[in-house]
Amino acid sequence: MGKRALLVIDLLHDFMATEGALFCGEEARKIIPVVCARIEEFAATGEPIIFVRDAHAPDDLEFQRFPVHCVRGTPGAELIGEVRRAAANASRVIHLEKTRYSAFYGTNLDAVLQSLAIEEVHVVGVCTNICVLYTVEELCNRDLPTVVYRDGVASFDPEAHAWALQQMETVLGAKIE
Ligand SMILES: [Zn+2]
Repeated sequence: MGKRALLVIDLLHDFMATEGALFCGEEARKIIPVVCARIEEFAATGEPIIFVRDAHAPDDLEFQRFPVHCVRGTPGAELIGEVRRAAANASRVIHLEKTRYSAFYGTNLDAVLQSLAIEEVHVVGVCTNICVLYTVEELCNRDLPTVVYRDGVASFDPEAHAWALQQMETVLGAKIE
């Protein structure tokens, strides 16, 4: 087994809380225990956990496509409490803010993965067909073996969720566990 990192995508109040600005629905609530279990697993072995967090300017053009959400510095852009608690004892936690779907766009994720010599990336988060998919596509471009947890990703759109899982497996070569 190569050196692993856990990528936790957008476990943020605005997506995950029922009163969040862009709540991803009950399917998203269901992944919380799975995400926390993965975080605790990586924390126990001292492996890196990377929190990728949507953090928009108030006038971000993405808000022409989606309601205003995860504005940098607001409570909506904070990690949910369950996840924060799961990571409380982790020794290697990295926070990374993004403004687009891909966790690589406009971030230093490349440098982080290289500096840690990561050989395998494990992915959980929301939404399966948006930020998860476009991040896994970038991992595929970099030939980084990728594991996506079927019960650790979710979307407000069940058909798109199923399609994206299949796309990641068959086209992008991710292992779906
Ligand atoms: Zn966003």
